[in-house]
Amino acid sequence: MKKHVEIHVTGCVQGVGFRPTVYRHAMEFGLSGSVRNDARGVIIDVAGDEAQIAAFVTRLRQAPPPQARIDEITSRTLSTPGDSELFTIAASTRSGDVAVGMPPDLTACGNCVREMHDPGDRRYGYPFLNCTDCGPRFTIIKKLPYDRERTSMADFVMCPDCREEYESQADRRFDAQPNACPKCGPCLRLIDSDQQVLDGDPLETTVKLLREGFIVAVKGLGGFHLACLATDADAIQRLRNRKKRPDKALAVMFREISQIRQHYRVTEPEEAELQSVAHPIVIVQRRHNCGLPSLLSPDTLDIGAFLPYTPLHHLLLDRVSPLVMTSANLAEEPIAHTLEHLRPLLGTVADFVLDHNRDIVRCCDDSVVRMVGATRLFMRRSRGFVPTGLRLPVSGPAVVACGADLKNTFCVSREDYAYPSQHIGDLLDAGSHRLFDTAAPDFCQLLEVTPHYLAHDMHPGYVSTRLAKHFPNAARVAVQHHHAHIAACMAENGVTEPVIGIALDGTGYGPDGTVWGGEFLVADLCDFTRLAHFRQYRMPGGEAAIREPARMALSVLLREGLIDEASNLDSIPGVRAIPAGERAILAQLIRRGTAAPLTSSAGRFFDAVSALLGCCETAVSYEGQAAIRLQAAADTRVHSRYPYEIQEHEVSFAPMLAALLADARTGVDTPRLAAMFHNTVADAAVEMCSRIRASHGISTVALSGGVFQNDLLLSLVTDGLRDRGFRILIHQRVSPNDSGISLGQAAVALARHGS
Ligand code: ZN
Ligand code: ZN
Ligand code: FE
Repeated sequence: MKKHVEIHVTGCVQGVGFRPTVYRHAMEFGLSGSVRNDARGVIIDVAGDEAQIAAFVTRLRQAPPPQARIDEITSRTLSTPGDSELFTIAASTRSGDVAVGMPPDLTACGNCVREMHDPGDRRYGYPFLNCTDCGPRFTIIKKLPYDRERTSMADFVMCPDCREEYESQADRRFDAQPNACPKCGPCLRLIDSDQQVLDGDPLETTVKLLREGFIVAVKGLGGFHLACLATDADAIQRLRNRKKRPDKALAVMFREISQIRQHYRVTEPEEAELQSVAHPIVIVQRRHNCGLPSLLSPDTLDIGAFLPYTPLHHLLLDRVSPLVMTSANLAEEPIAHTLEHLRPLLGTVADFVLDHNRDIVRCCDDSVVRMVGATRLFMRRSRGFVPTGLRLPVSGPAVVACGADLKNTFCVSREDYAYPSQHIGDLLDAGSHRLFDTAAPDFCQLLEVTPHYLAHDMHPGYVSTRLAKHFPNAARVAVQHHHAHIAACMAENGVTEPVIGIALDGTGYGPDGTVWGGEFLVADLCDFTRLAHFRQYRMPGGEAAIREPARMALSVLLREGLIDEASNLDSIPGVRAIPAGERAILAQLIRRGTAAPLTSSAGRFFDAVSALLGCCETAVSYEGQAAIRLQAAADTRVHSRYPYEIQEHEVSFAPMLAALLADARTGVDTPRLAAMFHNTVADAAVEMCSRIRASHGISTVALSGGVFQNDLLLSLVTDGLRDRGFRILIHQRVSPNDSGISLGQAAVALARHGS
């Protein structure tokens, strides 16, 4: 029977080659009609045999373009007959609101990479080819709707061949906005640190320079990478010295998956993630015969590996691989995305620059993920994921949420979708601060929203809250840091009913004026009650106690009466690292509580134990280093644990500390102690949840906070909770660390004030 149907598809369906795919499927099933973009997605008007239409919809569901994501397909039957004999792609009006489906930057697709490697193709060896399935999006779009004239491709005029592809409905470059070829598109150039352009083939010279051990800044999709040979320890050390990054792991790009396997263990889910649409950096584990310098990741067996995701990466890595590819910046600054931003690094960090003339409109760092079994745990959600929206279980007037001061992202909501921003960085850094100031208004403009609410942390001195100055008309909503963590986890899991929230992290402002970070909450999206927390300890010297874990070790031992000021501390790891002259002063700060704020932070507690076990006695060079070393030390075959105490509102590990110290003195090896520490913390957390379930009748637990980036702890806690029959919510769409805070803030604001 003949039918005429209008089909509406929502999700990430624009700018990803969706309409050409619809066209091909429609032709295959002999349907007539048209396909066009509209405000919320794609509208398909089809007429034909009823069974064929049904088959067409099934096909669409099963075989959408690789980069698309279908949220919903709805259809209604029209009473009018379909009029066209043909199927056409209707010229999109591009009016209205196309932000909803705006895709992230897309990894070079297989077809394009094949063309680039084909000596007979007109794009042979061309680093800027793309098609409707792939290429830059988020980082080249100045303004929506997404049209070439509003991207940084505007200045490149398509040659007749490219124009023909662009206009031909059957071509895979139909309507591909950044379409380009060697005749008409962007090109490479190699410049030295004085910005003089070098003669010769930029690509081949770069390859030669990298092989000789030079550090070359390479312009990518969302910014410049600093590249050097990953097999050359001298080059890596030079890069570390210049970048002032002595210890933190460096990401390494490999030509292909088989090359990663030579050096690292890659599980099936890790392989799938490495080759997924976003091509993120995936944390994998060293083989014992890895063969690459341990200098790449001195603290752990883990390293961030990734595969080429732009045509230029392919051309480079085809010739020289593997390469260290780390963001071009100093410390926690934003990634440099223009020559202007890169200038301070020229000659001081980078010897040369492989540059090109397609502007990066907004910076976007690489995303970093760790696979825990088959579950994706974000360390950083940025390139390849941003600006994809996340569906919320709440809705209402637009919110802009400021996020946290460290690892900042902000988040903009529109109706029941939240759009977390790209990685911004640590706002205490001036560069990140500037980026934050421009990126937030830019994001709102891109999404075409005017925020009604501005959600921010309760901390009175938080830098991020200053975002308020850009949105003077938005009503303010203050959200406690750990409530935001738990709310983020609830929101991304679509949960609104009350949960037990375990928030374990480094630092968050508590309304009682102390520093929180080892928290057991009962929370819904609107509000929370703090039911219990880790025992509080003094942080002697405040921020200095974050940089020097030994200070926390001293504080914890004094508080628990395991040492006294008179005892000889030279035999105690961690504490002995504190210069003798400083010990008495610090002890005094701790005793008097001056310049020594109280904290229940799990992060600080991990620091203290890491120092005590001798894993990290000196100052840390990056956030989380002490805990990372402690985790790396743990022998996961050990399943025993130490005792602990739960009083009504407090979890105390005093009994564990005494036993740990005694064991360390009798020479029990560190891997065993580190494992038992993890087991004890996990067991205490699970036990606390059981008690809360008994008293409050809640059996869903949400896990959040940066400490849960520790996949050992995460696995132990989730295993324990599962054994006791809890429903467990973990982060899979944003990070458990502070970059996930902004999503939680937005969800809380909507829950309180939305519809
Ligand atoms: Zn392509
Ligand atoms: Zn061309
Ligand atoms: Fe936090």
